[in-house]
Formats: sequence, structure tokens, C-alpha cells
Amino acid sequence: DRRLLQTLRDKPAISGDGVEVRLQANIELPEDAAVATANGAAGIGLYRTEFLYMNRKGLPTEEEQYQAYSRVVSAVRGPITIRTLDLGADKQVDSGQRQGPTPNNPALGLRAIRLCLKEPELFRVQMRALLRASAHGQVRIMLPMISSLSELRQAKALMATCRAELIREGRVVADRIPVGAMIEVPAAAISSSLLAREVDFFSIGTNDLIQYTLAIDRVDDEVNYLYDPLHPAVLRLIHMTIEAGHKAGIEVSMCGEMAGDACYTRLLLGLGLTDFSMHPANVLEVKRAVREAQVGELRRRVADIMQAASLDDFASLLAAL
Ligand code: PEP
Ligand code: MG
Repeated sequence: DRRLLQTLRDKPAISGDGVEVRLQANIELPEDAAVATANGAAGIGLYRTEFLYMNRKGLPTEEEQYQAYSRVVSAVRGPITIRTLDLGADKQVDSGQRQGPTPNNPALGLRAIRLCLKEPELFRVQMRALLRASAHGQVRIMLPMISSLSELRQAKALMATCRAELIREGRVVADRIPVGAMIEVPAAAISSSLLAREVDFFSIGTNDLIQYTLAIDRVDDEVNYLYDPLHPAVLRLIHMTIEAGHKAGIEVSMCGEMAGDACYTRLLLGLGLTDFSMHPANVLEVKRAVREAQVGELRRRVADIMQAASLDDFASLLAAL
């Protein structure tokens, strides 16, 4: 089967009825970029930069980050979506790098964009490195855990300040760097039509979106039986986000695990998603599902399912999709 899948590597990700789909890869280390390309990914949809900060002493300097980002950017043809630091909760750095009180509830605490806005110096070092790396390819910057317009605006203001600083120093920065928000907090999904006016793209982070929507800790084994990507509340938030993004004319991608599970490909295509980012190992399987799908028909069927009155209908109709 693996060999059969390999024959799809250089074939386009296009559905049976001609809808073009973009399948990108999620990476965690610069060296993963080569694996993504080898698996036929059309670019990097999520580069999780926190791995540069983890399992080490001290924080990475601007120069070190600039080298790492430039390496990825130069190695990949096509756009690279680099996510700003998503530390906290399930992604911790060695103690000693950062001090602060231990939160009672880390997933609801100071993590990701919240931490970066609270500690602007931490954010500034990364932002300068990212902007400098933009000189070497198609960098897109993605902000994790956005829950309000205010966070988005603060992050963009900081980015503008860093850009002005770098230009003054005579550094090269790309003219236009698309900025996107991860939609992974229910508040962001619910207000996606407002956020869509101020970003260039959305990327749905289902790992956290499911955690926060269903109030189940994604790293707590006692409750993982409740972790359900098909819960109607989750699907409604995903649907809402895709519609709001498309209505505003921006791209909507999905980079949570759900995007890389071929069991959900038909459903997601039916919900209107055409942009997926996943672990490189899943690209070919998802590509096969895309190539076998009739997207027009799936959209009609999923629209009916989304209208289903009872939650039971919802589950059984999805099972038959
Ligand atoms: C997500 O939450 O779905 C996501 C892609 O981000 P992470 O898994 O790194 O939190
Ligand atoms: Mg997340």
C-alpha cells in the first residue's frame, strides 16, 4: 500500500470533480522540511517554532533563530507559514529559562500569544528573526491562541515596530508578509467574521479547538475518551470559521491533527475546506482521499447534515458520508 501511495507523490491534489486542494506539511524542526518535500507536500502550513526553545539551556538569540528560519525558508519551495512562539500548557521549556508562578490551569493560563504580549522582549527577538528570514522566501506569520481582536492588533503593532527598526538598521525585509490567526479558541471561531477583516488567513487548530470547546484537557488520559472531532459543536465552529473566512475573501486552512486523518477528509471537503496542513507522513493518504472525492456532492450532503435537527442524526449521517 505504501508503494501504491508513493505513486501519488507527484500527482496533483485535485478531487474527482476538479476541485484543487492544497496539502501542506506541519514541521517542528528545520530538518523536517526535507521530509515534507519528500512526501509531496506543497509547502509548510505550520512550522512550530517552540521546538527551538525547548530542551535547552537559555533562550535562542535573534541570530540563532534567524539562521534556523532562513534554513527552512531557503529549503522549501512555496510559502512557509511560521507560527510565533506557542509556549505554555502542553509545551513547556526547561525551568530556569523562564520564571513565574505555576498556573493552576496551564491550558487556560499564560500561553502562546498571551505570553508573547506579556513579555514583548521575548516576542520582539523572534519577530525580528522572522522578518529578517522573510528576505529569503515566502514567509507567512501565524499567531497562535488568538482570542480577541485586541491581541491581533497588539501583535501586528509590534510587528510593524520591528519592521521599522530593521529597515532603519539597513536590513532587508520582504515588502509584504501575510499575517494569519490560528483559530483554536472557541471565542475566535465565534468571532471569526470580525477577525477575518484584519488578517490575511486563518488556520484552524483542531487540537486546541476541540480541547477548549469540549472542556477536555488534551493531555489528560482520564478524559481523552471524550475527545471527539465529530462533536456537532466542534463541526459548527469549524464550519463557521470556513464560511467567515471565505466570505471575507481570505484563505482558511486547517493544521490540527484532524486535517491529517484521512477518515475526516471527505467531511472537511464537504465543509468547504480546500487547504490542509498535516504531519508529512499523512500527506499521501489524504491526497488519495481527495482524488477519490466528488467535492460538489460532498458539499451538498454535508450542508444537509449540518442542518440535521437532532444530534443523533448528525452522528449517523456523518458515519455514512
Ligand atoms: C492545534 O492546536 O490544533 C495546533 C495545530 O497547534 P498545537 O497542536 O501545536 O497546539
Ligand atoms: Mg494549538
